[in-house]
Amino acid sequence: METKQFKAESKRLLDMMIHSIYTHKEIFLRELISNASDAIDKLYFKSLTDDKVGLSKDDFAIWITADKDSRTLKITDNGIGMTAEELENNLGTIANSGSFKFKNENKLEEDNQIIGQFGVGFYSAFMVAKKVTVISKAYGSDKAYQWESEGADGYTITEAEKKNPGTEIILELIDDTEDETYGEFLDQYRIKGLIKKYSDYIRFPVKMEVTHSRPKEQTEEEKAENKAPEYEEFIEVETLNSMVPLWKKNKSELKEEDYKHFYTEKFFDYNEPIKYAHVKNEGVPSYNALLYVPSKAPYDFYTKEYEKGLQLYSNGVLIMDKCSDLLPDYFSFVKGLVDSEDLSLNISREMLQHDRQLKVIAKSLEKTITSELKKMLRNEREKYEEFWKAFGLQLKYGIYSDYGMNKDKLQELLMFTSSKEKKLVTLDEYVTAMREEQKYIYYATGESIARIEQLPQTELVKDNGFEILYLTDNVDEFAVKTLHSYKDKEFKSVSADDLGLENTEKQEEIKAKEEENSDLFKSLADSLTGKVAKVILSKRLKSHPVCLSSEGEISLEMEKVLNAMPTDQKVYAQKVLEINPEHEIFGKLQEIGKSGDSEKLGKYAKLLYTQALLIEGISIEDPVEFSNLICELM
Ligand code: ADP
Repeated sequence: METKQFKAESKRLLDMMIHSIYTHKEIFLRELISNASDAIDKLYFKSLTDDKVGLSKDDFAIWITADKDSRTLKITDNGIGMTAEELENNLGTIANSGSFKFKNENKLEEDNQIIGQFGVGFYSAFMVAKKVTVISKAYGSDKAYQWESEGADGYTITEAEKKNPGTEIILELIDDTEDETYGEFLDQYRIKGLIKKYSDYIRFPVKMEVTHSRPKEQTEEEKAENKAPEYEEFIEVETLNSMVPLWKKNKSELKEEDYKHFYTEKFFDYNEPIKYAHVKNEGVPSYNALLYVPSKAPYDFYTKEYEKGLQLYSNGVLIMDKCSDLLPDYFSFVKGLVDSEDLSLNISREMLQHDRQLKVIAKSLEKTITSELKKMLRNEREKYEEFWKAFGLQLKYGIYSDYGMNKDKLQELLMFTSSKEKKLVTLDEYVTAMREEQKYIYYATGESIARIEQLPQTELVKDNGFEILYLTDNVDEFAVKTLHSYKDKEFKSVSADDLGLENTEKQEEIKAKEEENSDLFKSLADSLTGKVAKVILSKRLKSHPVCLSSEGEISLEMEKVLNAMPTDQKVYAQKVLEINPEHEIFGKLQEIGKSGDSEKLGKYAKLLYTQALLIEGISIEDPVEFSNLICELM
């Protein structure tokens, strides 16, 4: 008997299989079942026009037989089968091997990625088997053949006995080692689990004889004695797959419960989704998708452990559990799946093409998600607010990241708490409610709404009757700065220099006062060197004595946020200490200034500055000095 050698590329693929990492090995079953299903498809198709096939749709099936004694697992189909020549061509070389390019010699890691993500075909059997036997009889042929191989050394093809057309694949499993137990693939629960996980929607039944146990019938006596029942085993043929995927059914056949039940089962969430969408796209590539928005953020959502992605199916066969390319980061909370006939399970087709198709699908899914969220915002406000509380942060990151590339897509989805009723408003609602004389969209930042409410800087804007957006998340101000404006209305911090609402008369007055007291302001600023860039008279304060504001790009809030990040580089806002010209304290300062007691003035400056820091929620540098100063001046 002649032993034939594998073609070079097949050998390489074999190597890849044999050295694959353990966690990937289980997919061999998916691959073999998918091949069996394809083979049945072909014969089933023939049977539609050819009576000689002699089988009807219900006769087709895939059988799994596990035998623990001989450590063999058998996968049998009654599909189209293979001739000797086909065995040689299909299993001796990789089909269309020309298009399967080995880019990196010996790069195991990348190989493992390929195995994990895409179909790797028949050879995956060698991930779990030390010997593979294929007995096949092609439809229309009267001879059967046996292909046999123990891996790298080559294979043999001999004549064999087989009654009906179809293929039988027998795997002799690799011996168990301390850390790898190949025997598990003979366990009926493990097999059932794998079929549910990977091949649930294969169109033909996958059947297996399953052993159950039941209590034996008891005699009247035994019953009277209250005897514990004995158990007996019995065997039953079970179909392990459900065959019709939910997403391929007509929407009209499905109820809300079906979708929700599917979600909680499939994505292991106790909570029902807050929103779902069933997409059927007839274009190219054609695909079906089920998309879900969870009602709560998973516990690890805002950590780097969280993995985004949708399940990816190729015509009902799972090819990837979390395909991250299907979702942009800002929609990473979406769960669901995509099934496309235009994506091939076959690694031997162009992998690049996969990518292109995938991108098209991702783009169109993104559009669907955006429009579904907008619909929810319009029609189901309460639900949307609930969604916003769970995932709003992610959308705000989306505005800010990638240099604001996606802001136009996302800005209408944003919400912030507003000063008016302390309720969430969209930017659109804010702008629509703006008064005619209002130039800007005002915002204030702080760690909580209560904290922001107390900020002296908000006084003047509120007194003018204008609404303020309260920004409480770290990312908020960055997002708002990235947006810059909404519907031509610029965002403006209440701490900004020019709020666009001071009356000019008053401004002139303040300016004059500042000039009159220029010496005073200079010595105040001198005693706060390194702390503030300047000291000025405030145009915005009404009742409070002092506040801090900033000049330039970096605000006080941004300074806080950026410096909390784990980097060595620190940034500093150009702080400005504002003093209320109407407040008694200004008179007092003038008095001390005139008396020439520069030491006392310095102490006052420090006190006022520290007070302003406290109001802003910025930690003070020297609390001991601060409290001593208070006592001294008291
Ligand atoms: P593919 O991705 O093309 O299925 P495989 O390596 O899995 O690549 O299989 C190679 C070829 O072998 C298949 O294209 C098919 O023609 C043939 N083949 C594999 N399994 C079977 C089977 N159970 N019945 C008939 N033909 C099969």
